Amino acid sequence: MLIYEIICIAYPLDVCYTNKMEMIIMINQQMLALGQNRSVIRELFEYGKKKIAECGADNVFDYSLGNPSVPAPDCVNTAIKTILDTTPCVTVHGYTSAVGDLGTRQAIANDLNARFSTKYSADNLFLTCGAAASLVSVFKALIAYNKSEIIAIAPYFPEYKCFAEANGAVFRTISPDTEGFQINFEELDKAINTNTQAVIINSPNNPSGSVYSEETIQRLAALLTAKSKAVGHPIYIISDEPYRELVYDNFKLPFIPKYYPSTIVCYSYSKSLSLPGERIGYVLVPPTCKAASSVYAAALGAARASGYVCAPSLMQEVVKRCVSARPDLETYQKNRDLLWSSLSEMGYNCVKPSGAFYLFFEAPNGDAEAFSEKAKEYNLLLVPGTGFGCPGWLRAAYCVDYAMIERSLPAFKSVYDFFAEQ
Ligand code: PLP
Repeated sequence: MLIYEIICIAYPLDVCYTNKMEMIIMINQQMLALGQNRSVIRELFEYGKKKIAECGADNVFDYSLGNPSVPAPDCVNTAIKTILDTTPCVTVHGYTSAVGDLGTRQAIANDLNARFSTKYSADNLFLTCGAAASLVSVFKALIAYNKSEIIAIAPYFPEYKCFAEANGAVFRTISPDTEGFQINFEELDKAINTNTQAVIINSPNNPSGSVYSEETIQRLAALLTAKSKAVGHPIYIISDEPYRELVYDNFKLPFIPKYYPSTIVCYSYSKSLSLPGERIGYVLVPPTCKAASSVYAAALGAARASGYVCAPSLMQEVVKRCVSARPDLETYQKNRDLLWSSLSEMGYNCVKPSGAFYLFFEAPNGDAEAFSEKAKEYNLLLVPGTGFGCPGWLRAAYCVDYAMIERSLPAFKSVYDFFAEQ
């Protein structure tokens, strides 16, 4: 026991415990907890798979996971076949340079320049294994010391907390604006302090499906410009953009770096090209960013330290050929219209999604966990908003078959009536 105590003194961050045989186990307790506790979304998804095996796929209404239901655009499959048929195996499956293939990075820069009138070059971005890897790299790069703070605006993607805290940051959150799902500026203003390194935003938003208006972005840019001056260092925007191309009703999505020069973009092809399992995305550090070359180098260094360099080669080649391909918005919009109008008619308080493929609605009894549990009795799987920083609300990922939505409507009605009658 003495050795155990000495080790515990040497590692005050709670890194050791003894198992039943009194052997000393030294393990990172924070990582252990992350590995042992699956996310609520994953729990529901696994539960859904069990239910499908028991009751049949037609009788389970799984709205848990943001797995795109529309196939990848045709050009993706064509590109994969062509690449495999025409490129030597060693090249297709080999390492690229750490930052990714030059031609792919140039193609992405050209596409952004054509759409947003920017002047980016291949050297302003590097390829990653999806948005998750991009976010971890950028967080790690900006977390300069162990009181560095990252601010997220609720509702937010739950993994931000894990990405920030696992890298030593204080993860600060701003409560949601449940009226318009824009930004609670009064609270944000008060939350920013000298330790604030970045504000992470995600528009179109998971889980609310809302999109920040141009006015919101202008206000955010003005606030962060003033605050950066006041604290004496840049406060970056990290713009998490996996849903950039999923916008409905011809809404013109503001491109954030045009409004706030110190914006770092984390992009992913998981949703826009329906390739979540292929793990491909990028980090863009525009040259307008304060200390752009150092931020770029630090993010790349962070990717290296996390083992994320050299994104999948085949997918890099696919992106090069399909950089201007866009998702099938019609299918998602049809789903959105059916689900949103049906739930609204039943009496649910829903946000009308302007983007992404999530519908966010308020639990009629105010208790999202109880609602989600009750819904499971009807094989209706919905994610409570608590993990997204928005208790009392629930998320339905409508990237599913239209027919499933139709079949699920009586279940939505039954659960609503159950709570309304109480
Ligand atoms: N950010 C948001 C807001 C997301 O919704 C997701 C995935 O659902 C991610 C990041 C992670 O995306 P990727 O699959 O590209 O790692």
